Amino acid sequence: MKCHNPALVHKTPHQAPYPSDMTTVTLIPGDGVGPEVAGATHRVVDALDAGITWETHDAGLPAIEAHGTPMPEQTIDSIRATGVALKGPVTTPVGKGFRSVNVALRQELDLYASVRPCRIYPGTPSRFDDVDIVVVRENTEDLYEGIEFEMGSDELNKLRGYLKYMHGFAIPADAGVSVKPISITATTDIVDFAFEFAREHGRRKVTLGHKANIMKFSDGVWLRTGETLAEHYPEIDFEAIQVDELAMWLAWYPGELDVIVLPNLYGDIISDLCAGLIGGLGMAPGMNVGKQYAVFEPTHGSAPDIAGKGVVNPIAMILSAMLMLRHLGRDAAAARLERGVARVLAEGRVRTGDLRPSGEPATTSEMADAIIEAFDAG
Ligand code: NAD
Repeated sequence: MKCHNPALVHKTPHQAPYPSDMTTVTLIPGDGVGPEVAGATHRVVDALDAGITWETHDAGLPAIEAHGTPMPEQTIDSIRATGVALKGPVTTPVGKGFRSVNVALRQELDLYASVRPCRIYPGTPSRFDDVDIVVVRENTEDLYEGIEFEMGSDELNKLRGYLKYMHGFAIPADAGVSVKPISITATTDIVDFAFEFAREHGRRKVTLGHKANIMKFSDGVWLRTGETLAEHYPEIDFEAIQVDELAMWLAWYPGELDVIVLPNLYGDIISDLCAGLIGGLGMAPGMNVGKQYAVFEPTHGSAPDIAGKGVVNPIAMILSAMLMLRHLGRDAAAARLERGVARVLAEGRVRTGDLRPSGEPATTSEMADAIIEAFDAG
């Protein structure tokens, strides 16, 4: 089968040392620790001299102050123009206020695939030394689609009445309701993406997580569609397992897992679990890709508990930039960047607090300096 997703194919062939043409990337620092990790990453990428120029735009709390909305049109227009963004985390107020900027952005730009590579680098404090998992998460539907009914609202009372009258389902008056749609169309896109990714990157197995025994009509669609598509990729092993059992295997023998494809909510939870296998959220990069645009961002959130202190680990965002450079065909720069990160981790002299340093924890800025110095160290 031919790969139709440009995100899976390098746009330009490998060129050495770096392409002379410049590429503009939309940089969205975000809020909380976002500006700190984005600043460090900006500096590290500039030091690579990889032909990247930046167009910086607001999102999140600074955007609310400046533009009255957490995701201004200018920011989305910039991504539409550049095709690629590097984004810091953005706070989502819990249970009230604005809808998640991240969910809105993914839907607006049809970034249907979230890809979170979880690879352990030698020297990183972790319980495991053989983790190399890629979590592929469906990004547009499921419980994240935003079809929600507030407890006690007229809409929910009408829905409760309809469901009781037509189907005999009794939803308690003191319940809120979120709807979980899973379509064949979106499942086909993401499962195909996972197999194409596995093929492109020489991966041996795709594991599909589900809960079709309980949610027969949503996860049932997911499972049946996945099983059918797997037949088109006979060279790649396929297994479908219930997501609770998958969590158990991940905690027990993570080295057995390779590419994991999941619906939106399970993908969110399992990718944090996988971050925990490779040294924590400070180590877990990510990208959200669609057929036209790609947004690279760390798995972690805005970490308000440590924001503004200069102690956040920038590696998750720096590795997200590495994924971005590969996407842009800057393979030599991406490899140099990864070498810098791997050396700093292996040496263990410069570590932020989350990486359990033996001595004084490094600052965010010191970590970036150490990575830049390690690019070309012998
Ligand atoms: P979080 O990921 O921000 O933080 C969880 C814990 O991990 C905190 O103790 C934090 O200090 C630590 N941590 C996270 N990243 C770290 C790093 N790079 N280095 C060191 N420690 C790090 O999760 P949260 O506290 O649940 O969420 C905070 C906010 O971020 C919420 O509003 C949430 O909705 C939002 N969020 C945004 C994104 C995104 O923008 N893509 C993703 C997840 C969460």
